[in-house]
Amino acid sequence: MISVKNLKKSFGKNTVLNGVDLHVDRGDVLAIIGPSGSGKSTLLRCLNLLEVPEEGTIHIGETNVDVAKMGRKEVHNLRQETAMVFQNYNLFKNKTALQNVTEALIVAKKMSKQEAEKIGKELLIKVGLEDKFHQYPSTLSGGQQQRVGIARALAVNPNAILFDEPTSALDPEWVSEVLQVIKDIAKQNTTMIIVTHEMKFAEEVANRVIFMADGNIVEENDPKELFHHPQNPRTKQFLKTLE
Ligand code: ATP
Ligand code: MG
Repeated sequence: MISVKNLKKSFGKNTVLNGVDLHVDRGDVLAIIGPSGSGKSTLLRCLNLLEVPEEGTIHIGETNVDVAKMGRKEVHNLRQETAMVFQNYNLFKNKTALQNVTEALIVAKKMSKQEAEKIGKELLIKVGLEDKFHQYPSTLSGGQQQRVGIARALAVNPNAILFDEPTSALDPEWVSEVLQVIKDIAKQNTTMIIVTHEMKFAEEVANRVIFMADGNIVEENDPKELFHHPQNPRTKQFLKTLE
């Protein structure tokens, strides 16, 4: 489903991904944890080419890309395979909740407005926003805005959803409702990669966890093992600092 080999990314002299290999099966929920600056966001952003790696191959769904020799068509195809949920929501401020969700359906998928709105409303209902269809982001709480972001990601029916710290910009009171929505989606066999600092959530929602440090995957295991019996000294040290 997702297979990444030898992914390398540098910013100037700073090597951020050091030849990362990653494998995700359909229906997997993979959590990525690790210290600040370890390359988690960069890895996620390389999967949809928001950042362009220097080296490596990325296979997602139907698309195979060798990043050293890809053309525009491959970039376009790879981007269609995933949808991203951002820390700061990245909603269109001048569009309503419903318009945010239907935009890609109408513009990219060429659906009729009516068809797109039917899907959009269903998804907003799914994330608990049945009474907010026509409100603008500025009139929604952080948690509500992020739930619009999640509905928007679901709308394009991607092969995988990539979450980059979906709750870290939220006031504490809104965190649990967003985590609950993500858990509900996870139960429906949606393939997801979630970068998170919420260890308890990672343990509950994921079936695999990766610990990253200095641009490398240091340890990968099922959540119970990784959180309660970490093997690598770096993982042990990292988890200890959170206690
Ligand atoms: P955090 O937990 O703080 O979000 P992270 O693990 O997501 O950290 P990244 O954002 O992937 O870390 O950053 C990894 C390294 O790459 C850092 O040293 C960062 O400064 C650097 N970096 C990231 N984006 C850029 C950029 N656009 N230009 C230059 N350096 C960057
Ligand atoms: Mg990050």
